[in-house]
Amino acid sequence: MQKEHPILKSKSEIEAMKEAGRISAKALRMAGEIVQPGISTAEIDSYIENVIRMLGGTPSFKGLYGFPGSACLSLNDMIVHGIPNKRTICQNGDIISIDTGATVDGWVGDNAATFAVGTIKPQIQALLDATKASLYEGIAQAQVGNHIGDIGHAIQTYCEERGLGVVRDYIGHGVGRKMHEDPAVPNFGKPGRGLRLEEGLVIAIEPMINLGTHNCHVILDGWGVVTDDGLPSAHFENTIAVTADGPVIITKE
Ligand code: MG
Repeated sequence: MQKEHPILKSKSEIEAMKEAGRISAKALRMAGEIVQPGISTAEIDSYIENVIRMLGGTPSFKGLYGFPGSACLSLNDMIVHGIPNKRTICQNGDIISIDTGATVDGWVGDNAATFAVGTIKPQIQALLDATKASLYEGIAQAQVGNHIGDIGHAIQTYCEERGLGVVRDYIGHGVGRKMHEDPAVPNFGKPGRGLRLEEGLVIAIEPMINLGTHNCHVILDGWGVVTDDGLPSAHFENTIAVTADGPVIITKE
């Protein structure tokens, strides 16, 4: 395993990141409010881009590794990395993961949430609730002196106790002047293992949790990742800072 080199942030840098986080969180919340049956993922994407730019940020996702959108918009069995397009229309009973971020003064904020389109089945609502709760179980472990494995273990335990599949192939990451920095932040792991958490570490914790199997594959467009069994998947994410006072959520309005 390669050694990781996380870039620790000073208190003032963490303060500066909060503006990127604030705009990311606001864009995500506002995008969630326009989700309804009949809207295309292209429409949601352009709304997100407009909101981010209006608030003084630039969409961090646009052009990243060649991604065409300002947000990854992933419906139902798509776990992550859905390309926004005019043909993908939200239908009643769907769920949509919205993953977006804003860059402000060179700092990136990264966050995601999964929203119901109209009325969804109770079993799918339970998947959303558990995935969101597992994110906060993970965040609670982001304490100085804990290890990366403690975060993943908390998420994995919470979800597997409920019979859900924890995606292995895609994981959280460090965040800073780049969207993806060290360290890797898996949603599974063993307590006390992995990198020791230090003050100034800023990471995106992002459980991707499936109703069925954790196995997944990339579709033909080379971006979208879907579950192997076609069952739905949920995704929630916050960028957080590890501080002496405990975890601080950066992607917050
Ligand atoms: Mg992320």
